[in-house]
Amino acid sequence: MNARSRRFIVHIDIDAFFAAVETLLDPTLKGKPVVVGGLPHERGVASTCSYEARRFGVHSGMPLAKAHELCPQAVFVRGNHQVYQSFSEAFFRLLREYTPDVEEASLDEAYLDLSRCGHLYPSFSRAARGLKARIERDLGLAVSVGAGPNKILAKLATKKAKPGGYFEVEPGGEEEFLRGLDIEALPGIGPKSQVILRLLNVHRLGDLWGLPRASLRALFGLEGEDLYLQSRGIDARPVVTRVTPKSVSRETTFLRDIWDTRLLLAHLAYLCDRLTLALRQGCLYAHIIEVKARYSDFRTEARRRLMITPRQEMGDVFRIARELFLPLFEGSRLSLRLVGVKASDLVRSRPRSLFEPYSERGERLGAAVGEVRDKYGFGSLLTARERMLEPLYSLEKERGFVLKTASLTR
Ligand SMILES: [Mg+2]
Repeated sequence: MNARSRRFIVHIDIDAFFAAVETLLDPTLKGKPVVVGGLPHERGVASTCSYEARRFGVHSGMPLAKAHELCPQAVFVRGNHQVYQSFSEAFFRLLREYTPDVEEASLDEAYLDLSRCGHLYPSFSRAARGLKARIERDLGLAVSVGAGPNKILAKLATKKAKPGGYFEVEPGGEEEFLRGLDIEALPGIGPKSQVILRLLNVHRLGDLWGLPRASLRALFGLEGEDLYLQSRGIDARPVVTRVTPKSVSRETTFLRDIWDTRLLLAHLAYLCDRLTLALRQGCLYAHIIEVKARYSDFRTEARRRLMITPRQEMGDVFRIARELFLPLFEGSRLSLRLVGVKASDLVRSRPRSLFEPYSERGERLGAAVGEVRDKYGFGSLLTARERMLEPLYSLEKERGFVLKTASLTR
């Protein structure tokens, strides 16, 4: 096979991202163990630890108290998601200068497919190394970079390159590279499966090759299928470039103008519910919530609010929408023919719960409600407020009308 017709995938990951940003902002932290996520006496877990902290056995996901016990001399920082977000944006902007085929795997992790840009790069390896140097120079953050013919090999190469290195799986070198890797390197492997495999004396990927596909399936179900493919470096997944939409909105034009505040708020709740469902499905968080009202005289007015912490949960979005909506309606003395709600200035990253301990419950509730609705339809679960709309809907259905709910994106 011609080397140029082979896919060239680069995986890039910022080392100890949050801790590295904190160190960049406060150079006195350099060389010290740093734990980001909260103060030692606080509840919650470490979100990132510097490599100096890792030497003491501290790792991300560990309760802060435990991290403090292992490494009392560490500097504990609460962290600032907004700052990390802006570093992340700069990171992806830079990557997109190299190719449009960039996948955002997380705030600090990306896949790039250079294959389409062969005409720009006489050597893909040199381009990947150049990219690494450029990021380190321009952002001041150390990155680990792996390259290979597909995503799994590139990701495993990055693991090998950590911290701060570059590793490339060259054509023909796949088997040798994979054979000696520990099974825990596989992204798809669960802790239970690891225990079982080790009992079977399977420690390295090469050992895993000895197990038939059917046995892996029987032992681990779909995960077993994944283990079979991953351990052999088989991965046809494309690099997925998702463009973050500019905005998501939901609005309703009423069949008859509405005057009743309670009914209007019920509609607003319903729209917010639909909107937050769309946000959740798109893994989107909004910095701006806007509410629109069109009066019986066709005048339209809107109000918006900017939030420093982006929101996705129904409870938050509805509370804000309600506050924006009430003065619009109550000041007008006119009935309404349309109500709409829009989320804009969208970001893809999840504001981690450790920065916002109170959102976690709402987020879990939202996810659970979303699951039920995916299965049984939107109407299967309604809030008390939305139930007010039920008679309206069934009435309209009887008459052969459908409530017009337009959804606009972008
Ligand atoms: Mg990272």
